Amino acid sequence: MPAEPVAVAFANTRSSRHRDRIETLDRWRAWSDARDGLRTVGRAVDADGLADLRAVRDDVQELLRGAARGREPDPGAAERLLRLARASAPFGLGWRADRYELTVPEHGTPAAAVAHHLAGAAVGLLVTGPPLAVCRGEDCLKVFVATRADRRWCDSAACGNRARVRSHQRRRSGQDG
Ligand SMILES: [Zn+2]
Repeated sequence: MPAEPVAVAFANTRSSRHRDRIETLDRWRAWSDARDGLRTVGRAVDADGLADLRAVRDDVQELLRGAARGREPDPGAAERLLRLARASAPFGLGWRADRYELTVPEHGTPAAAVAHHLAGAAVGLLVTGPPLAVCRGEDCLKVFVATRADRRWCDSAACGNRARVRSHQRRRSGQDG
């Protein structure tokens, strides 16, 4: 089970402008399968539901990135997420094996249950969660919990390493020229 807040993990599914890690149902299920409480409901999301969830993800990302940079996010994104978070509970809670999981009530849809849960998680994170920071990697859109003041990368083995390679190449081309 990933340790980062679920709203951060959800926002980070769009890791760069051209990379969407929940762009197909298979990829969405790989993401939701990694979270025990969302596994059953996640597997029930259909293509239309996933399109809605990806739009919710874009709004969550806008809010989290804005907060991490100390800039007020797009008010439209905040308004849409609030509407979802305030919606009368389109979800239930079921005890399965040894833990709770999200369930879909009668007349509900899996995507609405998940969207409500993730919108609420994002609002909670923004109001009482730990401070966030944005990755400084080129093209990277990820945010992370700012556990250390000197942390610059979402993943030092990925974005950090790419930046080191680039600055090394810059130094070399400077020497050659
Ligand atoms: Zn990054």
